[in-house]
Amino acid sequence: VDVRVLGSAREVGRSAFHVKAGSTKFLLDYGVSMRREPVFPIHVQPREISAVLLTHSHLDHSGGTPIFFFGDNVELLSTPLTSEITKILIEDFLNLSGPLLPFEYLELLNMMKKTRRIIPDHLSELGEAQVKFVNAGHTPGASMILVEHNGKRMLYTGDMNSDDSQLQLGASNDFGDLDLLITESTYSQSDHPNRRDLETEFVQFAKEVVERGGTLLVPAFSVGRAQELMCVLHAHSFPYTVAMDGMALKTNEILLRFQEYLRDPALFRRSLEKTEMVTTWSRRRKLVETPCVLISPAGMLVGGASVFYLSEIAKNRNNGIAIVSFQVPGSPGRSLLDKGMTLVNGKPTHVKAEIKRFDFSGHSGRKELFNFISRIKGSPKIWTVHGEPESCVKFAEEIRNQFGLDAKAPNLGESISV
Ligand SMILES: [Zn+2]
Ligand SMILES: [Zn+2]
Repeated sequence: VDVRVLGSAREVGRSAFHVKAGSTKFLLDYGVSMRREPVFPIHVQPREISAVLLTHSHLDHSGGTPIFFFGDNVELLSTPLTSEITKILIEDFLNLSGPLLPFEYLELLNMMKKTRRIIPDHLSELGEAQVKFVNAGHTPGASMILVEHNGKRMLYTGDMNSDDSQLQLGASNDFGDLDLLITESTYSQSDHPNRRDLETEFVQFAKEVVERGGTLLVPAFSVGRAQELMCVLHAHSFPYTVAMDGMALKTNEILLRFQEYLRDPALFRRSLEKTEMVTTWSRRRKLVETPCVLISPAGMLVGGASVFYLSEIAKNRNNGIAIVSFQVPGSPGRSLLDKGMTLVNGKPTHVKAEIKRFDFSGHSGRKELFNFISRIKGSPKIWTVHGEPESCVKFAEEIRNQFGLDAKAPNLGESISV
């Protein structure tokens, strides 16, 4: 098996790998990096591959996949749940950045038509190779991908989280001997807080804000995080109104059809029943003056209804804002955290609402990553990718020292064979 890294080498973004297993050639992910303009991985001719295997829907893994669907010779392999969520995320991507993208809606539709739905934990044939998708614990439907060819076995983690959350089970750690492991490194150099404490703190903050007559805004990614926070509130019997807006509503409907991917489907259904789904502007204007929790999409606070919510919530010191996902340096969410400032209609505005950060991550922290490595069987070569340069390089070094394995943070375009 030969693998070449096309993206996500010493960076978070545009994950992509080219795999050659005998005469079978395919890609693992083909994402995008969101800078001033979208940046794609190293280019590959569609005729040079027969398939794209997609770990999960996030654009840093899926954003470039439609590029390979101008013709008819490539198929997409993913879990059914990932496939449906990817469709709505790429539709949204086309709406926001359409003119900058090297594909159109037609290619997305063709990709959906050419999708082979892979059931988790089942071995599937792909030319001369066999592939298996196993739970990655990162978002519902997200998978790690195991590739077998000629007695050699490699695992690509995509994004993963070993810990259970309210919404889903943690990543699987049982795949036999490996010859090659490509692992994400996002939080290899930092630990997450204890999950239980974090949930309690978050619910406590929500109560405080509502009980002093304020509204708590929770800007959350529409895929997974929004649903997770809804379930956290209801699992802790939060007694006040919880409302949800934006693209998260579409995700709710999809998740209802794929409850087998959820840790506790009954909790999810109960939480949905108790949550108000917001679809009209009259309701939005009313809710920002109602003591309640508002879960709104756009994790980075750019675009969508959350811009309206933010400008309203910012005005009153009784209100609160819970930052629940990683904020890219330079993003509006980050300057909100660091300086308490935000842009309202293009004008820098001081935020009076109380801002708190909660580290609800969909990724394994340092402790879980090392635990994951310690349970790997065989003595695989290891590539550390999908992290800041420091996180990838140090992680590889620590794996070499602690486990005596041949680990490395590859550079863009580098290849490896097993
Ligand atoms: Zn992800
Ligand atoms: Zn990622």
